[in-house]
Amino acid sequence: MSYSSEVFERVVKENPNEPEFHQAVKEVLSTLEPIVTKNEKLYRDAALLERIVEPERIISFRVPWVDDKGQVQVNKGYRVQYNSAIGPYKGGIRLHPSVNQGILKFLGFEQVFKNSLTGLPMGGGKGGCNFDPKGKTDNEVMRFCQSFMSELYRHIGADTDVPAGDIGTGAREVGYMFGQYKKLTGLYEGVLTGKGLAFGGSLTRTEATGYGVGYISAEMMNGAGNDVSGKVVGISGSGNVAIYCAKKFKELGAKVITVSDSNGYIYDENGINVDVVKEIKEVKRGRIKEYADIVKGAKYVDGKRPWGEKMDIAAPCATQNEMNEAEAKELVKNGVKLVAEGANMPLTLEAIKVMQDNGVLYMPGKAANAGGVAVSGLEMSQNSIRLSWTFEEVDERLKGIMKNIYKQVTETAEEFGKKGDFVTGANIAGFKKVATAMLAQGVV
Ligand code: NDP
Repeated sequence: MSYSSEVFERVVKENPNEPEFHQAVKEVLSTLEPIVTKNEKLYRDAALLERIVEPERIISFRVPWVDDKGQVQVNKGYRVQYNSAIGPYKGGIRLHPSVNQGILKFLGFEQVFKNSLTGLPMGGGKGGCNFDPKGKTDNEVMRFCQSFMSELYRHIGADTDVPAGDIGTGAREVGYMFGQYKKLTGLYEGVLTGKGLAFGGSLTRTEATGYGVGYISAEMMNGAGNDVSGKVVGISGSGNVAIYCAKKFKELGAKVITVSDSNGYIYDENGINVDVVKEIKEVKRGRIKEYADIVKGAKYVDGKRPWGEKMDIAAPCATQNEMNEAEAKELVKNGVKLVAEGANMPLTLEAIKVMQDNGVLYMPGKAANAGGVAVSGLEMSQNSIRLSWTFEEVDERLKGIMKNIYKQVTETAEEFGKKGDFVTGANIAGFKKVATAMLAQGVV
């Protein structure tokens, strides 16, 4: 059995009931074989793979808060500090009822390689809570965020661990968390990213993940002698990533025909009106089905995901495992040419295989959605030097970073004899830098 397979078996045995974590580790380890085989003795002697799959630290804590009726509620909070070999831990906070330790471990593990791919000095981490912000009042969300931070503050800091947004954590939640951190520590520092522009946030951070998906898709299309312009794009989700992904694809001359939420999807053959989606989701905090009441000709399909529609480009931007093998086959049958993951691990391993076996250009999330954390890294830089760059400056840097990620991914895939296999390219390119740093820093 290969070294990678041995370590994978150990992960499954030692981490029962964490299927998403197993899935993420399997995807990475199986594609690292070429580099692991080349350096097997060095890596084995240093137990490098055993160390890289194990989080440096997991903090788990109680989050008690009082709802508007005066009833005490209790949630489970976590921070997974995965790997600090190349910089302070960095990664978002997810607020969703499905959050558990296994999901945060999968997200933290992915984050280690993603952050490495950006070229910025950021380690990997992820946090969250099984709290559901949906249907809560602003005051309830504030009390929850304050309680969450009342424990988390002692484990984070501008040079140790810098959380950000993720599902359920947007500008409002980051603001409340930052306020509580400042009150408890007395420090005004860049401890969270995704902050409001009035208190240290970076221009372009809100747009960064979605824009990055658009930029890397354009690189992929160009690399294949094709163009994003004129293509039909299907997007899932209607949150932060989906909204700005749709906006960028439109700017690039494509037509976006779908958006969704966990209840169903919207199909608009005239092209999704992003302003309407923003109004529903960001202002009214409503459901996506309301789009069909506002926009003539759009239809709402209840209880389904958009992957049965005909599209040239699919950008899943909602959540993990939101596209299975059957849906991937349907997309291929309908002529999909490119899949770029805005979400983390939205395709099952079987769905990825369908894309790759059928010659679809497929970019995994750790490369395609790295624009968000990249601009978070730029927010940290701006906070450190106490300056703010313009929207255009940050956007230019984001574009450059996405171009560079595409270059690294394609060149690494080629170097290891896997031309066009962007999963292998992304995993090996991300891994190399972290592995080098871990080996240089000794057994810690
Ligand atoms: P948001 O909370 O802003 O939006 C999430 C969207 O996904 C909503 O439309 C939501 O619908 C939908 N969704 C969430 N859970 C499910 C589910 N179980 N089934 C179906 N739909 C679901 O989150 P983001 O846009 O920030 O994040 C989306 C994805 O992108 C996540 O995988 C996240 O990890 C990833 N990502 C985010 C980054 C960022 O900068 N924000 C950076 C890199 C990756 P509903 O309202 O019904 O729940």
